[in-house]
Amino acid sequence: MRAMELKTPGEPLQLVERPDPSPEPGEVLVKVSACGVCRTDLHLVDGELPEPKLPIIPGHEIIGNVIALGDGVKGLQIGERIGIPWLGHVCGTCRYCMSGAENLCDDPGFTGYQIDGGYADVTIADANYCFPIHGEYSDTDAAPLLCAGLIGYRSLRMVGDIAEHLGIYGFGAAAHIVAQVARHQGRKVYAFTSSGDMKAQEFALQLGAEWAGESNNTPPVELDAAIIFAPVGALVPAALRAVRKGGVVVCGGIHMSDIPTFPYEILWGERIVRSVANLTRQDAIEFLKLAPKIPVRTSVEIFPLQEANDALNALRAGNLTGAAVLVP
Ligand SMILES: [Zn+2]
Ligand SMILES: [Zn+2]
Repeated sequence: MRAMELKTPGEPLQLVERPDPSPEPGEVLVKVSACGVCRTDLHLVDGELPEPKLPIIPGHEIIGNVIALGDGVKGLQIGERIGIPWLGHVCGTCRYCMSGAENLCDDPGFTGYQIDGGYADVTIADANYCFPIHGEYSDTDAAPLLCAGLIGYRSLRMVGDIAEHLGIYGFGAAAHIVAQVARHQGRKVYAFTSSGDMKAQEFALQLGAEWAGESNNTPPVELDAAIIFAPVGALVPAALRAVRKGGVVVCGGIHMSDIPTFPYEILWGERIVRSVANLTRQDAIEFLKLAPKIPVRTSVEIFPLQEANDALNALRAGNLTGAAVLVP
């Protein structure tokens, strides 16, 4: 198999040849047909996430077909098309796993971080964390659903049912999916982008946003809630200033620059700031059923596997509309 491997954080990925792995009991071998490029991959490559397995093959928005089953695997067939997300393994015994919060597991394994991921021709996955892909999505169109979609969906759940006016800060891969789900739920979307990013603002308006502007602009209405996808701590006080009393600000990213100090009065009024971490299997099952019904359409830019560094650089530079997807 070929893979794009991270040996040293801060350095580019390297194309390597490795022998094909074999599935252990409970695992499956998957022929990768597409793998999305997530901002988390960028944080990993840039050394902003602690203690990755090294070397590591990144990639946790994997679409592929099962080509071999380990002992004891039930419910998956050879040839079946599945998706593999960020949450790749949990301990099953900690207080979080026992209470339905496996996303907070004390001893988890994350795909493309502790478990080799999808920047490769083939990959191994825990069969319990493979999900059928419904609908008529092509493999490349389906890939961003696996993280941008799932984390976005979980972030959206955290804003609550009564949040009609929803701000989204950072209009990239996750936002373009969340905006469609939010509109389907009858919410109104207000898109905030970095200064002068007219392309992202136009993209948001095309997807049905009521309004699009820069992150320090005042939206036309008081927001009921906001989701921050951009990894920029200064957006937390900006979003708090834009939400009403009792409103919630959800931070949807795995990494964020430091949040500047801010006056207590912008948190006062029972406003809430919270993060969203990872996903549960239940999130994956619900969202992957819902997406084709809406239907959520994804906007992707395709790169050959060996050009993974170019895809990461395009994401870093903000030169993508929608999501980058690698194809082996
Ligand atoms: Zn656990
Ligand atoms: Zn991700």
